[in-house]
Formats: sequence, structure tokens, C-alpha cells
Amino acid sequence: MKNILSILRRFLHGYKRYVILSISLNLLATIFNLFSFASIIPILQILFGLTGEDHSYIPLSEATTLESYIDIAQNNIYAYIEELISEYGASSALILLGVYLVTMTFFKVMSTFGGGAALVPIRTGVLRDIRNQIYDKLISLPIGYYSQERKGDIMSRMSNDVSEVENSVIASLEMLFKNPIMIIIYIAVLFYMSWRLTLFVLLLLPISGLLIGRIGRSLKKRSTKGQELNGDLLSQIEETLGGLRIIKAFNAENKLIERFQALNNNIRTTFNKIQTRYLLAHPVSEFLGTMVIAILLWYGGRLILMGNSTISAPEFIYYLVIFYSIIQPFKDLSKAGYSIKKGTASLERIDEILNAQNDLIVHDNAIKIKEFNNNIEIKNLYFKYNLNEDNWILRDINLTIKKGTTVALVGESGSGKSTLVDLIPHFYDITDGNIYIDGHEIRDIDMVSLRGLIGNVNQEPILFNDTIFNNIAFGVKNATIEEVKRAAKIANAHEFIEQLEHGYNYMVGDRGMLLSGGQRQRICIARAILKNPPILILDEATSALDTESEKLVQAAIEKLMEHRTTIVIAHRLSTIKSADIICVMDKGAIIETGTHDELIRKNGKYKKLYDIQFNTNKN
Ligand code: ADP
Ligand code: MG
Repeated sequence: MKNILSILRRFLHGYKRYVILSISLNLLATIFNLFSFASIIPILQILFGLTGEDHSYIPLSEATTLESYIDIAQNNIYAYIEELISEYGASSALILLGVYLVTMTFFKVMSTFGGGAALVPIRTGVLRDIRNQIYDKLISLPIGYYSQERKGDIMSRMSNDVSEVENSVIASLEMLFKNPIMIIIYIAVLFYMSWRLTLFVLLLLPISGLLIGRIGRSLKKRSTKGQELNGDLLSQIEETLGGLRIIKAFNAENKLIERFQALNNNIRTTFNKIQTRYLLAHPVSEFLGTMVIAILLWYGGRLILMGNSTISAPEFIYYLVIFYSIIQPFKDLSKAGYSIKKGTASLERIDEILNAQNDLIVHDNAIKIKEFNNNIEIKNLYFKYNLNEDNWILRDINLTIKKGTTVALVGESGSGKSTLVDLIPHFYDITDGNIYIDGHEIRDIDMVSLRGLIGNVNQEPILFNDTIFNNIAFGVKNATIEEVKRAAKIANAHEFIEQLEHGYNYMVGDRGMLLSGGQRQRICIARAILKNPPILILDEATSALDTESEKLVQAAIEKLMEHRTTIVIAHRLSTIKSADIICVMDKGAIIETGTHDELIRKNGKYKKLYDIQFNTNKN
């Protein structure tokens, strides 16, 4: 119950108007319903010939309390019906009662419809809000978050769990806004008609509640497991789509199919259990409801037969009708309770994303830097991805990069080069030591302004499924086609773009798959050129290319590097010979620094790497 209230408070605060509208209309519907049912009493009295002429009009002004007001109104209605029957006959009175019934029902269904319709904007709105919240969060979380969480799992939370919340929690809102009102009003009327009978009935209800609660608890536990498995499924699909080429090359289709089928069957078994439990809700409450009615019939009927009852037989029937009308909303309400239990499992998984901590530290009052004037200083820097790990990924790095110079990082794969350059745009938080940009500690710099100064070109060119124009203009606002073309020309990309079907409006396909690796990389370079950042980071920008396109890309990169401060990681050492400083990294530390000639003369690690690459080991 507390759970439900907090869910309501959390999601509905933007939709108060609709909530109030819906509740009021539902209230009206309930009242119309009571009035339409009430016609049953005179109908039964007429049918069984129970109408006498024993009521006469009493002026309403004689009423003193609410109770006497209702009594007088009731009396006058009886008097009116008796008058009708004596004047026009019983069947005419029945026609009139029928018209009354139809009218009341018309008002009732219209109010019910209105009450439901007022909820539609809430349902769609809440769903939109949740999706927006998750997406905002996904974009704002640091890159480090995603090495721990798998993509498929996150996608599953965004799609499967959100639809689960829609189907369970949000779909149950209607019940929550309608059924409690109906139940409370009906019970109030029942009490008014006969408190003894009603008290007796209400004592039977907690027993049903207990049974229903037990089923709900086990539902939630299983739902969590089901949604986790759904995440695994999406992970596998995503992995398969990404690795299809390798799967086929290694004839591993059957292996993957087996793995997939095992998981898929596991999901089926889990959801078999969930859905069976869920279905149980209906028969259990229906059975319990009928049992209560049977007991009520026996108890109430006995009171009437013994002449002990405060209500007449037709009134008892009306009582039963109302009571029966409680069962359905009660049943729906317990079903809504189950649904919400089922959905809270998903809601918790969504909340895990929404509550994920952005652990990148940026101090309050961070400054916005607009330009880069002097240098980047890396001092006594230590870093590890996971604080629980024993080994440092970067150890005691000291390096000063002056404005306008080119610094190259070389070293074996895994020595920490990419990690080091990822720390400069503050993608990860430094573990110890510091990085200063123009003397400002990196944690004192506003992240957006910091990244605004830096351009990246990586080994894996990243394009979005959009036009070439939009891919190049990605990082700048309101770029004109002239500017984009100029950037593409400098990046050696203009020529091939012109030859494509729609030129700059060519759609590059998923991740740029419709272009070759070299073409993709040149578009990424054009993107960096257009952004025109003072600091440039090139992480193996040409490593994935064949020699032919490498030449084109290398030429583009050299143009991009002009007048900039560049940190370049290159696999092929020939491309970094002219760097101002070359740092050789090994197991997370810088072990040699100097120019190409100095390092060759030194005859150390750099010389060895160089000799291996050029196969000119003359020692
Ligand atoms: P390089 O770019 O020189 O090849 P990296 O900086 O990519 O090396 O990797 C350095 C070390 O950090 C490697 O041992 C690698 O396993 C580890 N590493 C890289 N990225 C991550 C990550 N996201 N989470 C944990 N460890 C990582
Ligand atoms: Mg790397």
C-alpha cells in the first residue's frame, strides 16, 4: 500500500488536473449506479404485489437531519409510485421505472467513460516521462558506467521494463482511481441499509485478503528474474548482430543457436510460472466472493424469514445487488495489486538506472574555459578503472604538453595509451595526481567547456545513421553547407561525397556501414575540422585502414593537425617521427621521452619497437 502511494506521488504530480477530473467523474458514475439499481426495489414490490397504499407525501421541509431527509425522500418516492399504480395500473408504472433505469444508466456509462478518458493523457504522459528520464540519464552517465553494465541489459530496461510498467502499473491506475471510490460508497450504503449484515460480511473479507497477498509476493520475485533473463536475451541478440561475420566464418551458428535456445527456454519456464500465478488471481477472488455471497444469503435470508430483519425482502435483494457490485471492483482491485507487484520489479530495475551515480567529480563553481593558451600539465597521475583492482592502469605519469606542439604516445597494446588520453576530456575520474589545463585543475573545469576545446578522432570511426551533412555538422550549431564542404575538402572527403547518390544528403546507414573504413574516417576528420578545437586527440586514427586509404587519411590528418596542440597515438611509428615529444609507455608508465632522433640514439625500448616495425635490425 505504501508502495502504491509512493508510486502515485512520484508519477502523477504533473497530472493533478486529470486525476481530479477522473476521480470526480468516477464518483458521479457510482452515484448514478446506485440510483439506477434502486429501481429494483419498487419493481420487485410491484411484481410480487407488495405495494399497498400506506405511504403519503411528507414535505421535505420537515427534515432535520440528513437521515430524516433520506427517509422522507424515500417515503415520497414510494408514495408517488403507489399513486401511479392506483391511477394508471402496474404495467404503466413498470414502463416508467424502465425509462428511469435507462436514463440513469446512460448518465452512469457516460461518467464512467469520462472517468476513463481523463486517464488516457496520464497514461501516455507518464510513459513519456519515464522514457525521457531514462534517456536523459543514459546520456548523462559517464563512459565508465557502461563498461560495467551490459548494453543489452540497459536496452532491456529501457524497452521491456518500461512496457512492463506500462502494462502493469500504469494500466492499473484506472482501477486505483475508480474501484476504491465505488467500494467505499457501496459499503457506506450497505452500512446504512443494515449495519448488522454489513459488519458480518466485512469480517469475512480479511481472510480473502491474506490469501491474495501471498500470491502477490511470489509474483514480484519471479518477475525480477524474468526481466533479468529478458536483458540477457537482448544482450545475446546484440552480440550476435555485431559478430555475425565471425560467427559465420567460424561456423559457430549451431553453437550460438544452442546457447540462445537454452536461454529462451529458461525464459519460457519463468514466464510460465509468472503467468500461471497471475491467472490464479481471478479464480481465487471469484471463488472467495461467491463464498461470501452464499454465506450472506443464508445469514440475511434467515433474519428476514425469522422476521428479525430491519429490511424487507426487496430491500435485501437490492442489498445483494450492491454487494455483488462490490465484488467486481474488489476483484479488479486485487488484480491491480498483483499487477503493480509484478510491475514494481521492473520499476526497481528502471530506478537502478535513474539512481545510478554520476561519479565524475566536478567541483562546485567550476569555471568555463573558452580558450587554450599555455599548456596541459599531467602531474603524478595514477589511475585504475576499478578501485578494487590491485594494479594501476597508469602509474606516476608526468607530462607537459605545450600549446602548439605535438606529443606522441607509443607502446605495446594494453600499455595504457588510450586510457591516458581519455582522462584529458575527463571521461573518467583521476584516481590520484592531477591534470591541469592552463593551470586549472581538471575537476575545477566545467565539463562542457573542457570538451568544447578538444577534438577526437579514434581508431573506430563513429558515425550515426543520418546524412553525411549531419554527421559532419554533428558538433557545431547551425553549420552551413559551405562550411561543411570546406571541412570535407580539407579532410579529403569532398570528392567521394560528391560522387555518392545524394551527395551530402547521402544516408550513411547503421554506424556508417554503407561507407568504407577510410571514407568513414575522413568524415570523422571533417567533423573534427569543422569543430576546430585547439586541442586534438588522435587515437590510432589510421590503424584500422588499408595502406591506400591510410595515405588519404594521413594527409587529411596532417592538415587537421596544423596550428593545433595534438596528442597522437599511432601504431605505425613512421607517422609520428616529426612529433615534438615522443613518450614510450610500458605497463602504465612512461619509460622514455624525447624526439625521434634522441630516442633512436638512446637505443632503448623505442629503438626496439622501431626496428621491429621496419625489419631493419642491424645490431
Ligand atoms: P592501449 O590503448 O595502450 O592499448 P588501454 O589504455 O586501452 O591500452 O588499456 C590499458 C589497460 O587498461 C589494459 O590492461 C586494459 O585491459 C585496461 N582497460 C582498458 N579499458 C578498460 C575499461 N573500460 N575497464 C577496465 N579496464 C580497462
Ligand atoms: Mg588503445
